[in-house]
Amino acid sequence: MDLRAFAKINLGLDVQRKRPDGYHDLRMIMQMTGMYDRISLRGIPGGQGIRLRTNLPYIPADQRNLAYRAASLLMEEFGVTDGLSIRLEKFIPVAAGLAGGSSDAAAVLIGVNEIFDLGLSRKELMDRGVKIGADVPYCVLQGTALAEGIGEILTPLPDMPPCSILLAKPPISVSTKEVYGALRADEIKEHPDIDGMILAIREGDLRGIASRAKNVLEDVTAPNHPVIREYESEMEEAGALVSIMSGSGPTVFGLFEDSRKAMKCRDEMRRKYPGARVFLTRPQQKGDDSNGSGQ
Ligand code: ATP
Repeated sequence: MDLRAFAKINLGLDVQRKRPDGYHDLRMIMQMTGMYDRISLRGIPGGQGIRLRTNLPYIPADQRNLAYRAASLLMEEFGVTDGLSIRLEKFIPVAAGLAGGSSDAAAVLIGVNEIFDLGLSRKELMDRGVKIGADVPYCVLQGTALAEGIGEILTPLPDMPPCSILLAKPPISVSTKEVYGALRADEIKEHPDIDGMILAIREGDLRGIASRAKNVLEDVTAPNHPVIREYESEMEEAGALVSIMSGSGPTVFGLFEDSRKAMKCRDEMRRKYPGARVFLTRPQQKGDDSNGSGQ
C-alpha cells in the first residue's frame, strides 16, 4: 500500500498560556500543503515485528521514528501477529516546523488500520495519534482546521481559497523544545486574530487570511536567526501577500495570489540561497490525493 504524508503549515499560531503540566494552550490554524513524504506499507504474513527503511541516514529507523511508533501502537493493541515492512521516503525537511514526523505517523495509522482490517474510525485513529504527538490527530484529519489545547482539539474548517504556497527552509536547525522553553506566554504583546482568520476562511477571503497570518513563536526564533526575516522580506518583495514562519520554525512560507510571481520568487530564492530547500506548492484539500506536489 502506497501512502502520502503531507506537510502542514500554520496560517496562524497563538499561545494562550503555559499550563501547570508544562505544555502550552495553543490556538492554531492548520493547513495541509501538497508537499509529501512517500510511505509504502507491506504486511508480511507469518512475518515478525516491524522493519523500517528510510532514505535519510540521520533519522532513526526504530521505535524513535514516529512512523514505527504509530505501527507498533496499533499492532500491539490489536495483537497483530503478522510482520510489517515500512519504506519511508522523506521529502519533507526534518525538524522544520512542517510536522513531517507527525504526518508520517498519521499516514501509518491510516494504512495499518486498513492493511490489518482493524476497523477503526478516523476519530478512533485520532484518539490514538495524540499518544504519539500533539500534531498527529490533525495530520489524520487533514485539510484546514482550528487546533486548540496542545493541538489535539480540532474543529474542521472549509478549504482555504486556492493560492500558491512557497516554502523555504533555511539551512539552520531550531529545537521545538527550546523555542517553547524560551517563550514567555504572559508577555506576548500582540496575539494573532485567530477568530478573524476563521471568518476570512469561511468567506473564502485570501487577503483577509493573509492580513491575519501571524505566528507568536516567530518572536522567539527570528531574533536569533536573521535569515528568517530575510526570507520573509524576499517573498514579500516578490509579491507574496504575506510571509511568516511555520510552527517553531525555521521554515518560512509565503502565500501568493499570482502563481507566476510565486514561481519567479522560487527560482530567485533557489539561486540566491543554494543551501535552502525551496519548494512551491498549494493548499492540499482534505481527501484530495491527486498529485498535489507542486514543483
Ligand atoms: P513539528 O512541526 O511537529 O515541530 P518538525 O517538522 O519540527 O515537526 P519532524 O521533522 O517531525 O519535526 O522531526 C523532528 C525530530 O523527530 C527529528 O529530530 C527526527 O530525528 C525525529 N523523527 C522521528 N520520526 C521521524 C520521521 N518519521 N520523520 C522525521 N523525523 C522524525
